[in-house]
Amino acid sequence: MISAQTLSFHHGKHHKTYVETLNKLVAGTQFEGQPLEAIIAATAGKPSSTAIFNNAAQNWNHTFYWQCMRPKGGGKPQGAMVARIDAAFGSYDEFKKAFAEAADTQFGSGWAWLVVENDALKIVKTGNAEVPFTKGQTPLLTIDVWEHAYYLDYQNRRPDYVNAVIDKLLNWQFAAD
Ligand code: MN
Repeated sequence: MISAQTLSFHHGKHHKTYVETLNKLVAGTQFEGQPLEAIIAATAGKPSSTAIFNNAAQNWNHTFYWQCMRPKGGGKPQGAMVARIDAAFGSYDEFKKAFAEAADTQFGSGWAWLVVENDALKIVKTGNAEVPFTKGQTPLLTIDVWEHAYYLDYQNRRPDYVNAVIDKLLNWQFAAD
């Protein structure tokens, strides 16, 4: 599971700092008041806008990540997602294996994602603040694998955190919506 202490630091300090830093960076620029998606699209891959991109994308990623979890979530999905998971991965167990492997093997900081690309489900990973939707992939679920997401609870055991998210927290209703 994820402790209250981790959530307090992750949401109350890390995410909060991304919000405050982005607001400072865009103040008085063309990006002030713009939606995060527009800021991310305009700054992705541009070395002159790295700081704005990183902070905008980390705001987007975290806002998305919080919605990917719920109390008593995780485990096999029900409803519309079942057929999509089976079609793409063969079974829920194969999906779980692939999602966990992506999260466990992302080298350094980043994110593991379940996305839709060309109408098919797919698992991808991104480094640091990178988002899938600048590459035409629509995110359905994500796991934050920056150390700040798990280190207080699991230290170096990232796979234990990843399994806890997949088995006990994933919000399949959010993914289906
Ligand atoms: Mn994070």
